[in-house]
Amino acid sequence: MKALQLVAHGAPGKFELREVPDPQPGPGEAVVQVQSCGLNHLDLWLEEGGLPIPIKLPRTPGGEIAGEIVALGPGTAGVPPAVQRDAGAPRRQIGDRVAVQSNLFCGECEFCRRGEDSMCLRGEILGVQRDGGFAEKVLVPSRALVSLPDGVDFDTSAALTLAGSTAMHMLNNRAHVNPGDWVLAIGGASGVGSAAIQIAKQLGARVISTGSTEAKRNLAKNLGAEFVVDSNDPKWPAEIRKITDKHGVDVVVEHVGGDVLGKCFDCLARGGTIVTCGATAGRDVPLNLWPFFVKQHRLIGSYGRNRADLDATLQWAAAGKLKPVIDSIFPLDQTAGAFAKLRSRNFFGKVLVKP
Ligand SMILES: [Zn+2]
Repeated sequence: MKALQLVAHGAPGKFELREVPDPQPGPGEAVVQVQSCGLNHLDLWLEEGGLPIPIKLPRTPGGEIAGEIVALGPGTAGVPPAVQRDAGAPRRQIGDRVAVQSNLFCGECEFCRRGEDSMCLRGEILGVQRDGGFAEKVLVPSRALVSLPDGVDFDTSAALTLAGSTAMHMLNNRAHVNPGDWVLAIGGASGVGSAAIQIAKQLGARVISTGSTEAKRNLAKNLGAEFVVDSNDPKWPAEIRKITDKHGVDVVVEHVGGDVLGKCFDCLARGGTIVTCGATAGRDVPLNLWPFFVKQHRLIGSYGRNRADLDATLQWAAAGKLKPVIDSIFPLDQTAGAFAKLRSRNFFGKVLVKP
C-alpha cells in the first residue's frame, strides 16, 4: 500500500510517498481502508518536531480518520472479549464504515474503566506515536473504532471527529453550559471553533466568536455566532464586555494559548470558566492570581475526547445539528500541499486528505 511518511522534521518537513507492506492485524486490532483523513495543527507540530514527546521517524501522520474495515484480527469479530466490552466496543465486521478515535486508549486502566478514555494512563496519539491515516490503510485497536451513522459520509466524519469531538468534550464534559449563557468560541473559522459555535448554540447559549479576517468573521456568523469580534484589534476583550453589557462571557472555548488566554480572562464573567485544549500561540502563559480568585474564575484543561463525545459528535452530524466546514481536499500524493495550506493559516474549517 501507499503511505506518506515524514522522514525529516522541518517547516516544511521532508515527506516521501512510499510503498510499504500492508498492515496485518494482531489480536484486538483492525485494518481500516482510509477514505478521508483530516489535517490538524497536531500534524504541523509533528512535522516541525515541536511536540514534547519523543517521535521515531519515519512516521505516517494523520489522526482524523474515516474509512472501511478491511481486515480484523483475532478477538475483534463475533462476541468481543471482556476487555473490549468494558471499553464499549461493539462487534465488528469487514466492510463496516467507521471513524477512528485518535486518542488511543488501553481499555483497562482505572480511567478507561469508567469511560474517561481521554485520561487513559497508557494513551497514545494516532499519527504521532504510531502510524496514522495519510496512507491507504491504517492499523488500529478495534476498541478505537466508532460506527458511522447512516447519512454521515467519510468526508463529514474526517472533518468532525477530531476537532468537532474535541469541542464536544470541552462543552459537554469538561465545562458546563446553561441555556442563556454567553459562550465565547475563539477562532470561529478553525476546526475546534467552528464546531464550538454550533454546539454551544445547540445547548442554548448566546455565542460570540473571534476572527482575523472579514471572511472568517462572516463564516462564524453563518455558523450561528451572534457577534464576532476582530482578533487583530487588541481591544477585543473590551468589545466583548460591551456586547455582554459588562457581564462578560460565562464560558470560553480556548485552543490558542499565548496572549489570547490572558485576553480571555479580561472578558470572563465572575464565576466564569475557560476551557482550553491547545496552545498553538504559546504554551507558557502568565496568570495574575488576584483577579483569578477574586472573580472566582475556573481554568479547565481538556484533552482529546471520550468515546461518548465521539459518538455524540457523529449522532449530531447525522441529525444535522453539527455541520462540517470543509476548506479543501487533497489527494494523498499532494499531502505536503495540505500541510503548507494549514501552515499558511489561510483556510476555513478543515483541510482533508483522500488516499
Ligand atoms: Zn486506559
